[in-house]
Amino acid sequence: MADKINKSDEEWKKILTPEQYYITREKGTEKPFTGKLLHNKEKGMYVCADCGNELFSSDTKFDSGSGWPSFWAPVSNDKIEIKIDKSFGMIREEVMCKRCGAHLGHVFDDGPKPTNQRYCINSVSLNFEKDKE
Ligand SMILES: [Zn+2]
Repeated sequence: MADKINKSDEEWKKILTPEQYYITREKGTEKPFTGKLLHNKEKGMYVCADCGNELFSSDTKFDSGSGWPSFWAPVSNDKIEIKIDKSFGMIREEVMCKRCGAHLGHVFDDGPKPTNQRYCINSVSLNFEKDKE
């Protein structure tokens, strides 16, 4: 596992856009059906917007109809961290980047086979790196 990245809020503010800061550091949520990566169907890797950690492959992306990019599995379980989130009166499982602690989204157990999981991730939390042909 690569070294963890620890930066202060001030340092993150310098390198992130205000929207990225709000979503990944203050655990915001982008409006559904607005994300830049929602309808992306190209082959490649989705990496953490804050630190470049490889998180999700296009092979596991599916159209969940939720309005957010959805994946049925991370690249590997040691790339992400799951935390119980009790905000807004709900009990949800929060998905975070294991390397830098960025808030990515939430995971639900109503996804497709083979995992039955649905990683519901903000576009803002991700950058897309297209496969080189
Ligand atoms: Zn990260």
